[in-house]
Amino acid sequence: MKFTQPRLPYTPDALMPVISPATIEYHYGKHERAYIDTLNKLIEGTEYADMPLEDIIVKSEGKLFNNASQAWNHIFYFFQFSPDGLKEPSGKLRKKIEEQFGSLDDFKKKFEEAGATLFGSGWVWLAADKEGNLSIIPAGNAGNPLTQNLQPIMVFDVWEHAYYLDYQNLRAEYLHRLWDIVDWDVIESRYGE
Ligand code: MN
Repeated sequence: MKFTQPRLPYTPDALMPVISPATIEYHYGKHERAYIDTLNKLIEGTEYADMPLEDIIVKSEGKLFNNASQAWNHIFYFFQFSPDGLKEPSGKLRKKIEEQFGSLDDFKKKFEEAGATLFGSGWVWLAADKEGNLSIIPAGNAGNPLTQNLQPIMVFDVWEHAYYLDYQNLRAEYLHRLWDIVDWDVIESRYGE
């Protein structure tokens, strides 16, 4: 087995009440795990067997792309949360957000809207280009900005399995509540701070 599922940097109840231990059990314990297991089966004995996951995402398509990208996306998603992380960005990311979106609140509103209005399953991304310019990217299914040569900075999962146990059909409410557990220290380090 090439890729292993990383352990979460917090306990299953640490993100309550925003994300329940039951959602962690299913979303991290079953969904993320299944993508990684399937990815490992698909690459065995192929040209992808020794490739970094990011390269597989960029070079593959179909079932392999779906499982490789879903594995990467979920790891990225769960590692950006903390019960006691930095509550707001402060450095050059903060400055860039205000420059491009007006204010942190305006940015959050736009980001939530992009996730709430994405039809079907997918992800809403914050990504940066080589110059550090930001964009909000809604992506269906297993979409990932790496395929557009952009650096992923933050992501909210808008597949129903991410929120249905805790919020039922209230996707917008789930997206709004996620800000309470985003660790901006992690987001800033992804932006190169
Ligand atoms: Mn998910």
